[in-house]
Amino acid sequence: MSNLNNLNNSNPCLFCKILHQEIPAEIVYEDEHVIAFKDIHPKAPVHLLVIPKTHIASLLDLSQTHLDLMGKLTLALPKIAQKMGLSQGFKIQINTGIGGGQEVFHLHYHLMGKAS
Ligand code: 5GP
Ligand code: ZN
Repeated sequence: MSNLNNLNNSNPCLFCKILHQEIPAEIVYEDEHVIAFKDIHPKAPVHLLVIPKTHIASLLDLSQTHLDLMGKLTLALPKIAQKMGLSQGFKIQINTGIGGGQEVFHLHYHLMGKAS
């Protein structure tokens, strides 16, 4: 089960809504802690957003309590890339805060590449 703090219907977070299937997205990977779905405005042939199931606004909000979760999120990246056929490698981008161009305040990795 995903974290209880995400189960509040008044939660306005766009990516929590995708997580709880309140708005549609093309989900390509899911495990106990992580989901990955296609970016609605892709900037690469494969452009995914990889998010923790726990709501964390950005890297600026991380604390020691997130160490294990962040490890799991990071370990999921090569698995997801492999599943999507990115056998030659991939790019990761994490926009952080207003100054970093972040628009959706639920921590996410952009995972981008080209299948080969
Ligand atoms: P940020 O700028 O916060 O790092 O990136 C947010 C990303 O979310 C953008 O690349 C944008 O295209 C994507 N995005 C925004 N709204 C939606 C949506 O409703 N569905 C999906 N799948 N992606 C979205
Ligand atoms: Zn959220």
